[in-house]
Amino acid sequence: MFIVKMMGELCRMNNNFGKKTEDHLNKNDEKSKKKEKKPSIKAELAIAKKEIANQKEEKADMQAELDIADKEVDDQKEEKADLEAELVIVNKEVANQKEEKADVEAELATTIKELANQITLRKEALEKIEQIMHYDSLTGFPNRVRLEDKLRHEINIAKRHEKRIGILFLDLDGFKPVRNTLGQFQEGEFIKTVAVRLKNLVQESDIVARLGGDKFIIMIQNPENSEFVRTVANKIITAFRQPFEVNQNEIYVTVSIGISVFPRDGETHEDLIKNAELAMYKAKEKGKNQSVLCTTIMKEIIRENMKLSNGLYRALERDELEVYYQPQISQDTKKIVGLEALLRWNHPGLGVVPPGKFIFLAEQNGLIIPIGKWVLHTVCKQNKAWQEAGLTPIRIAVNLSIIQFQNLEIMSQINEVLEATNLLPKYLELEITESIAMRDTVYIIDVLNTFQKMGIYISIDDFGTEFSSLQYLKLLPINRIKIPMPFIQGINIDKRDEWIIETIIVLARKMGLAVIAEGVETRQQDSFLKKRLCGGIQGYYYYKPMPAKDIEVLLHTNS
Ligand code: C2E
Ligand code: CA
Repeated sequence: MFIVKMMGELCRMNNNFGKKTEDHLNKNDEKSKKKEKKPSIKAELAIAKKEIANQKEEKADMQAELDIADKEVDDQKEEKADLEAELVIVNKEVANQKEEKADVEAELATTIKELANQITLRKEALEKIEQIMHYDSLTGFPNRVRLEDKLRHEINIAKRHEKRIGILFLDLDGFKPVRNTLGQFQEGEFIKTVAVRLKNLVQESDIVARLGGDKFIIMIQNPENSEFVRTVANKIITAFRQPFEVNQNEIYVTVSIGISVFPRDGETHEDLIKNAELAMYKAKEKGKNQSVLCTTIMKEIIRENMKLSNGLYRALERDELEVYYQPQISQDTKKIVGLEALLRWNHPGLGVVPPGKFIFLAEQNGLIIPIGKWVLHTVCKQNKAWQEAGLTPIRIAVNLSIIQFQNLEIMSQINEVLEATNLLPKYLELEITESIAMRDTVYIIDVLNTFQKMGIYISIDDFGTEFSSLQYLKLLPINRIKIPMPFIQGINIDKRDEWIIETIIVLARKMGLAVIAEGVETRQQDSFLKKRLCGGIQGYYYYKPMPAKDIEVLLHTNS
């Protein structure tokens, strides 16, 4: 702009200069004309020359100015070029930054996506953990943990609003044989069907939880009274009359239900569940397929049991346990051919406590392991002592609890005891119940085989009272069957008991097993058994269980 202006100015100056020169020449012409007229032309020329010099000077100045302007223009051009170069760099930088920003944004988007994925995965994992922790994997119903949480919560609400909560503790009757016939897959299907039926029998707000196996708990929300809870229980019992259908098989089972009601039967979730469970066992005891309400008496029993259980912890240390022995008689010779070791607890306050009152407690609190070991040791030591005293060697039977048997150390324990007491294994007999025999058959066979190979004698106790599977008679390495007292008591009273006894004797004989009848109290029972060639007799008719010192006297006469 500036340059254009300058150029314009220069043109204008040139024009002026030309014009001025023209004017001047014109004037000179006039002057020369006048000179011709006047003589001072010389002076006028000098003036004109001066003017021309002045104009030249002016032009030079203007040229100088023009040069300066040109330089400025050049400088500005250079500056502009610099600026443009800088601009190119800046633009490039901006472009780079844009690119970088886009990269960062893309990275951010990936990170956010990854984060979102991780959050989803974590959420899913948490949900899975929650599911595993709180729900039964087979039925999808709440498990014990979930039920206890819910019950705790409901108890807090019920306390504030003075409401009741009903607890039904359910256990299927005769589930073991059902399980054995169904196999694992169908057993699961069956349990699911049971769960669904239970859910359909209660209200939406009630909770049906599976504890595992064939045990369920139902929490009844806000029942009007205990009777209402009992009505629900009886509705369930009635509904179980209908068969359960599993893969086109009809399965019939009954159920025993124990009931407890908050706050009457317990103020904590533990007490409510425990009391309902005890009531369920009462229902089983009373013949199954029924419901039993947790009563005050039952609560007293619980208190008693708790006292006993606590006392049992000290019983071993304080030497309060004692082994009694009951003779086993040969029907042929009438001689004592064996003894059964039966545990007694000489309680400081209660006197002699029979095992029926504390063995199950010891099983519950785990004390059966040290107690069982103590019994084994005491019996083997006593037997060895009798042998060393010169008495005719005799075999002594020890009862094994299922808990002892499930303990994988059972084999080493028995080995240790035999070694420590130096008793020959053939003088030790182990009595196992059908429930042991029917558990994990492969493991049982394995352990029993080892025992038998060592020379230990194996008997099945209370044969036929639980849900026996004759299959295990074929599979298990056993030496003898014990006919339980309830059948013996039916002799001369109930033909069916007699037939069962006869059948057991024939079956055992055919299978090469010995038989002994337990709980023989009368001469009639003894002679019935003698006629059927039972072989062994154990019962009050001959001898009651007695302390070791009394047995010693007997064994002396027996020798
Ligand atoms: P069991 O093995 O069935 O023992 C037989 C029970 O019947 C014994 O009861 C015995 O005293 C009783 N008995 C024997 N003959 C007669 C009779 O003619 N009439 C009557 N009314 N009863 C008779 P006990 O000693 O009270 O033992 C009860 C149960 O406790 C035993 O039943 C056994 O299962 C368990 N037990 C006893 N000692 C031990 C032990 O050391 N360990 C384990 N795990 N269980 C034991
Ligand atoms: Ca026994």
